[in-house]
Amino acid sequence: MVLENPGTSLPLGANQRKRAKEFYYPLLFLDSVQDCCQHAIARKVADAPQNPNQSSEADFRTLVNKLAHICDYRPAGDTVTALVVLAVDGRIVYAFASNSRKRPNLIQTKNDLTSVLNILKANLEAETKESDQALFDRLLRQILRLNTVRVRMYLTHLTKDLAACVKACEGDASEETKSSSQELQKLHDLIPKTDEAGQTSDAYTSSVIRCIQTIEQYRRSPLQQFIKKKAATEEKLRKNKTPWSNLHHVGGRLLSYGYDAETLISAHHMWEDSDLFREFEVNFLDSSQSNIPKPLEFSPQTIESLVNGMPASACNAREKKALIQHAAELRKYDLDKILEGQWQRKLNPIVHAEMILHDWLSRTPGGLQPSRFFGGWQYIGTSKPVCRLCRYYFDIIATPVHFRDGHPNSYVNWRLPDIRPQGNRPQDMQQANDDWCKIMEQIKTKVYADLRRVLEEQKTDQKMNDSNTYTDRLTLAGLLMNSGV
Ligand SMILES: [Zn+2]
Repeated sequence: MVLENPGTSLPLGANQRKRAKEFYYPLLFLDSVQDCCQHAIARKVADAPQNPNQSSEADFRTLVNKLAHICDYRPAGDTVTALVVLAVDGRIVYAFASNSRKRPNLIQTKNDLTSVLNILKANLEAETKESDQALFDRLLRQILRLNTVRVRMYLTHLTKDLAACVKACEGDASEETKSSSQELQKLHDLIPKTDEAGQTSDAYTSSVIRCIQTIEQYRRSPLQQFIKKKAATEEKLRKNKTPWSNLHHVGGRLLSYGYDAETLISAHHMWEDSDLFREFEVNFLDSSQSNIPKPLEFSPQTIESLVNGMPASACNAREKKALIQHAAELRKYDLDKILEGQWQRKLNPIVHAEMILHDWLSRTPGGLQPSRFFGGWQYIGTSKPVCRLCRYYFDIIATPVHFRDGHPNSYVNWRLPDIRPQGNRPQDMQQANDDWCKIMEQIKTKVYADLRRVLEEQKTDQKMNDSNTYTDRLTLAGLLMNSGV
């Protein structure tokens, strides 16, 4: 049975389509400006907070994010997944939604996630428990197999970045550089070659695990400091997308699969007396459907017309003049060309996964009450940090539900949840439409404020990659390193 929102959703009326379009112009402009400003900043290389003393609620949030992460199989955003753990009549329901997955794909993901949870269930119910190590190996292999496509992408990037870093070390005869370069070359040589047919074989998975182990090993060695130093030097030179910081990021992404498995094992010990991994079902919500008759198209705008189009409440005439000047300075980073590309786009925006789940929760019995959530913890986890526009939306509606910390990226292909009137009376329709317009206006105001801030500062806090290089985990040190492959 698929989880469904009650009632029917309305397509956008002419008035709303007009408002939506008005919303996307400043958003497209903001997106372009951020794109330009990336040339002017370097990626931050930061360590994740290590917090071994976090509360059980924080541990639970980590678990939920990890489960969502396991389901985000592919790059580019379609499989970005949100997940919530509900306690329904004494039974645990893992409910998830993805940005843009078709029904058969959602069913497959449901079965896959069930198979992962069943590994933990089988262990809890077994008379003789498996060792954590054996459990870890089994989970990690399963998680890597589900994420073959994404893992392959990381390995391809890793191969390229390692080669570039080794090359960059050439000509530097210092002992530190020489030995670091050798270590990097060693990791390079460990990466299994692309072989579509073999990517699910045990031997291929073992090679991937050896790579991940080696990355973990390097993270605890002087090589880590060497890479960080190089990345920091590049940051100073304000270079864009450098192999050293990429190396750091991709290494972190690959390690995160090991942390997924560690977190699951740790969680199944923590909650072994509950039903969390014993009596459960996994279910999903469909991804959003289009609510417009045809994709949105845009007419070309100039920097001047875009800035002058800002409402007086966001910016007065004198300030607009200054903003136009700021924007003009971004012409050297191809702002005009980037904008030109934006007007060619045909947008058919989607509802992000966490908003789909939140919307469904708020419209079904029990709503957003703590009693509906496992442990009373009102939390929706996600495979990626929550985007800027979703964050604005949740702030505006003042939801009691918590989400993963946001990152400042905004995605153009974003829309509000479907308009669902509470009843069939005309006033119900009117109310739903009015609510939609009100929220749309409030978000637009925030986008204008962002636009103004970014132009004034001439830099952006947008991150290059929208996943944390380091992610939280419930640590069970040693499992990855001792994995027998
Ligand atoms: Zn979002």
